[in-house]
Amino acid sequence: MKEKKCKNNKCMRVLPKGYKFDYCENCRNEQAKNVKNAGKGLLGIVGLVGGIAIAIITKKAPKA
Ligand SMILES: [Zn+2]
Repeated sequence: MKEKKCKNNKCMRVLPKGYKFDYCENCRNEQAKNVKNAGKGLLGIVGLVGGIAIAIITKKAPKA
């Protein structure tokens, strides 16, 4: 039987027999980290856009 290798082309680590994931433990950890970072980045963008939107709204709003 052909041995299974990590799908990450930079990694290509041989996966243990019966391993149920396509990526090795190390790459899976990296992916989890990336997802967290992406979430943080997204939150930052939302915060930035929200801040700009508030700035525009407050500028446009007529002062009583
Ligand atoms: Zn890997």
